[in-house]
Amino acid sequence: MKTKIIATLGPSSDAPEKMRDLVNSGVSVFRLNFSHGNASKFETIVSNIRKVEAELKKPITIMQDLAGPKIRIGDLPEPITFQPGDRTLLGPERPKDDRGLPWIPFTDHKILDNIEKGDRLVLADGTLQLAVSEKLGGNLFVLAAQNSGIVTSRKGLAMPGKSVKLPALTEKDKQDLRDGLRLGVDAVALSFVQTPEDVLEAKEIIRECGKDIPVVAKLERQNAVDRLEDILKVADIIMVARGDLGIECPLPALPSIQKRIIRACNRASKPVIVATQMLLSMVNSPAPTRAETTDVANAVLDGADCVMLSEETAMGNFPVETVRFMRWITTEAEALLSETRPESHVPQMDNPAEFLSYSAWLLAEKTDSVALVAHSLSGASARSLSARKPTQPIYALTPRASVVRHLNFSWGVIPVHVGEKPAGHLERTEKFVEGLEAFKKGDQVVITAGQPHPGEKSAGTNLVKVYRK
Ligand code: PGA
Ligand code: MN
Repeated sequence: MKTKIIATLGPSSDAPEKMRDLVNSGVSVFRLNFSHGNASKFETIVSNIRKVEAELKKPITIMQDLAGPKIRIGDLPEPITFQPGDRTLLGPERPKDDRGLPWIPFTDHKILDNIEKGDRLVLADGTLQLAVSEKLGGNLFVLAAQNSGIVTSRKGLAMPGKSVKLPALTEKDKQDLRDGLRLGVDAVALSFVQTPEDVLEAKEIIRECGKDIPVVAKLERQNAVDRLEDILKVADIIMVARGDLGIECPLPALPSIQKRIIRACNRASKPVIVATQMLLSMVNSPAPTRAETTDVANAVLDGADCVMLSEETAMGNFPVETVRFMRWITTEAEALLSETRPESHVPQMDNPAEFLSYSAWLLAEKTDSVALVAHSLSGASARSLSARKPTQPIYALTPRASVVRHLNFSWGVIPVHVGEKPAGHLERTEKFVEGLEAFKKGDQVVITAGQPHPGEKSAGTNLVKVYRK
């Protein structure tokens, strides 16, 4: 139960009974996909999630996923079928002399201005590759197909490896974000992030709206992967968005890219989500393929905090079965992870908080402790414990509801909403240990807390204690 499951809501799953089944089967985060609607579509769904949450007494996190600047071609009068070598025109207008070639309407001059002879364009979810063979006047291009395929209206267009500065937040995204914050979403995911500034822009809007929710940077462009370290400094959570990333970069490189991103996120104590096509065949089948089962297990072994379902739960025929299967696979993989985990790295000396959680992790591993219990105002110390993938569960106690929901993304963390009393964070934590039935008399736990001086609100984490119930 340590790996977190994110389920996308859609017609197959957005009824309250279905949501209840999904949560009971292991979902802790619901994704609302704003590529297929705006806030008015999600209003009832959000209020139903809150009802299910209250009824089941389990924190449920709502992640708004913004559409982002997905580049699309225009409307075609009819689909175009290509054989290798077939040529087509692409540009804002069909020329008088079209040389007898078909024409793909595309009006985005920011992109067109950047296209050069020899560039590679990818259409229709990566299924059709085209090379730019000629540049004509008026931003019109002649493209030659590299393989066979069909293009229909409004298909996505990608230019692998090419950096075209489109801000990650479109006008619709900004509006959706403001509306989402009003509805009370707990996290926001940004599509097609390219730079740290994209993340900072979203954070600024969130701050202006008087909210404080984590930002998920979806890595789905090669140049975002190239700037991972910079993006990691400002983003709260990372998603390996394999759908669009698999179009942008050569598909055979995707597994290595996934592993590198996850390793970087684990080192930075930032939760990381592996997304797209995890159990895709379960859209139509009650059981997954061998390859999919292995893919989910490998994501856990790579160190992912969360695994995500898209079509499987949004529009599939077996949403609940898919989540149950996913939970089963992750549980099996976690058992292997605890057998094969390498020794955890020693943190850098200039970071006392990391050192403290390292000591807590070490104490828990080397003594007979049944759990780690972290009192955490911001959630940071629980995340840094989580990144070490301890064998024991991590109970994260926090008085902030927003932190509870942020911690739903962190591997092995059980977030607990606690009251402000007693005032001492250590006393509060010990009281929780005494009261929790899961711990028996004589059980030992390792506590981390920030013990403030009287009158001080927070001291940062400054205490580790071995506590016997
Ligand atoms: P999407 O993002 O489903 O919104 O496209 C995830 C991905 O591209 O993998
Ligand atoms: Mn995508």
